[in-house]
Amino acid sequence: MTDIVDRFDVAVIGQGPAGMTAALYAARSGLSTASFERMGAGGQMTDTEQLDNYPGFTEGIAAFELAFAMSGQAARFGARTVNEEVVELDLHANPKRIATASGSVYEADAVILATGAVPRPLGIEGEKELAGRGVSYCATCDGGFFRDKRVAVIGGGNTAVEDALYLARICSEVHIIHRRDAFRADAIYTRPLADLPNVMLHMECVVESLHESEGRVSGVALRNTKTGRQDSIDVEGVFVAVGTMPKNDLFADSGLAMDAAGYVVADETGKTDIPGVFVAGDVRTKALRQVSTAVGDGANAAHAAFEYLSLR
Ligand code: NAP
Repeated sequence: MTDIVDRFDVAVIGQGPAGMTAALYAARSGLSTASFERMGAGGQMTDTEQLDNYPGFTEGIAAFELAFAMSGQAARFGARTVNEEVVELDLHANPKRIATASGSVYEADAVILATGAVPRPLGIEGEKELAGRGVSYCATCDGGFFRDKRVAVIGGGNTAVEDALYLARICSEVHIIHRRDAFRADAIYTRPLADLPNVMLHMECVVESLHESEGRVSGVALRNTKTGRQDSIDVEGVFVAVGTMPKNDLFADSGLAMDAAGYVVADETGKTDIPGVFVAGDVRTKALRQVSTAVGDGANAAHAAFEYLSLR
């Protein structure tokens, strides 16, 4: 039987902006708080260099700088970072149990899940190598780097079309490449496309390969799935928006209510259907996955955890 290494009021799983804000609010409200992270602080936000849309920074802020500041702020109020990979969670135990890769087991009366999500890759050759060199998974994060340039957006859901609308105001040309003849996106997003002269649609087309020049994206090769016709477009940016994947493997078998895509079902309070288990950030069902919405989630989930622990 493994010894319990430590016990906390609250364990926060993940040090993205949602998790770090949850840790800050929990610790600041007087709860003993552990903040688990297997990598460095920051989560998905550090996939981008510069954040230009996080309020409060006129000139934007480097993602790592913001992550470092968030983590330091939580620590200032006593949140303890446990730099270990969580490998097992027992969310039904009382207290709840958190096992890490080193074999340690921690206990906590409440758990806040802030494990985030990852963009779904397209899965084509060269995509990984060109990520950050023209391939992006976040238009609102990286669109500004492609001002007056030609870009492609791949996908046909709300994210892809919203990305295209956003990029159309920044970029000279936006080529939407979608594998079917109809968008999955809601009409409220697709309707404005017709009035944008710099948005071109390539329906029933898939990206076969990425063109590269001097280590950066220089274009995409397309194939029409109906006619088989092949085509090439010169673009400097490729925004992949083919959905995200929640990082839920730790609690996939816990019985937590999740939607069909695997996001944990909760409203903005972060309360899940398991008492004492809360969720914050990208792994929660929500409309807009951004750093600014993640921090709001973190604050709400910590507040809900505080209420749960106080009123039990
Ligand atoms: P999504 O709705 O799952 O759409 C993914 C899109 O990518 C689909 O058009 C899909 O094509 C395409 N796709 C998937 N795999 C592909 C592949 N291998 N190659 C080419 N295309 C591929 O994902 P999302 O747009 O990220 O949205 C996720 C959720 O967030 C949705 O529920 C969405 O409504 C929600 N959301 C809401 C808002 C909002 O309300 N403001 C904004 C953004 C997102 P098919 O259509 O052919 O399957």
